[in-house]
Amino acid sequence: MPFRHIPMVGIVLGLVTAAGHAFAQQPAPKPGPQNEIRAAKQAAKDAAEFEFTGTLARTCLLPPSRSEDFRDIPAPYVSDPNKAPARATWYAEPAKVFDNLYFVGGKIHSAWALKTREGIILLDTIYPYNSEELIVGGMRKLGLDPKDIKYVVVSHAHQDHIGGAEMLQKRYGARVVMSGPDWDLVEKVPNRFRSMAPKRDVVATDGMKLTLGESTVSIWFTPGHTDGTLSFTFQVLDRGRPVNVVYSGGTALVYEYTMPEWGIKNMQTYINSQRHLAAKAKETGATVLLSNHSEFDNAYNKNRMLAGRGNGPHPYEIGADWVQRYFTVTENCARATQLKLEQQPARK
Ligand SMILES: [Zn+2]
Repeated sequence: MPFRHIPMVGIVLGLVTAAGHAFAQQPAPKPGPQNEIRAAKQAAKDAAEFEFTGTLARTCLLPPSRSEDFRDIPAPYVSDPNKAPARATWYAEPAKVFDNLYFVGGKIHSAWALKTREGIILLDTIYPYNSEELIVGGMRKLGLDPKDIKYVVVSHAHQDHIGGAEMLQKRYGARVVMSGPDWDLVEKVPNRFRSMAPKRDVVATDGMKLTLGESTVSIWFTPGHTDGTLSFTFQVLDRGRPVNVVYSGGTALVYEYTMPEWGIKNMQTYINSQRHLAAKAKETGATVLLSNHSEFDNAYNKNRMLAGRGNGPHPYEIGADWVQRYFTVTENCARATQLKLEQQPARK
């Protein structure tokens, strides 16, 4: 996707106005990384408008998600259940979002149950401390039987998405699907994944199709957020009408200013993944963008809008162009970050 360029005149005029007389004596700034960074951020802002404010904030404005923490220590809420966040901070009502797709996540993190005539495919499993109430309890509230979960697909091995996978595998015998690099990560730091580490099972690869009953989830390898992040495309029904969904498995940018070279490379991996998934979204005609964080797809708010939908449009169905805009935001914010990282060594 091309980056938009701010006309130089606009920048110069803006700076002259801001800096007043003193700056007016200076020669016009040369095009350089700062302008490119600004242009990439502006392209992301233009694409986001009001639909992707959370995605824009996370990927263009907020500090990095930390790079992989390899300390092999259990999560505080695993060592001491009293340290789990208060229920009021994460509890959300489950919701039937499409005829065959159910939201069983929380206020911040999402999990999704795709119902087929041969059982359920669960996408992501939130934390160990809330998967019992939100996923198992949420499914029961919606009239689904958690025993029908046949596959648990974990987009990536972070504690907010893999948290319930061990429990669901042990209790219901569900097959667990994850990428090779993320299975390796779980095995490498067993204490860190204590109580959430399923036994290695299905190793997902790019283009793999997971079929259960009448539904097929296509799996796409989209590394960057982790080395093995997975994303998906699949079809759901809205009052009987087929609707195509793209599910982005990892959105936040992972880099360290202290390791610019690694970050530059990881941003490129992420950018390539965004392009890959954007292309799959286009090919499949995706008009719905789903995520595993409400921050990125507004799931928590949209679930509440659904209740008042009546005969109106489905609040999740934003259209193919808006789906593409999500990827314009993430790609441009990653590019802006990459450019910033490229400036790092020169700063010394
Ligand atoms: Zn993550």
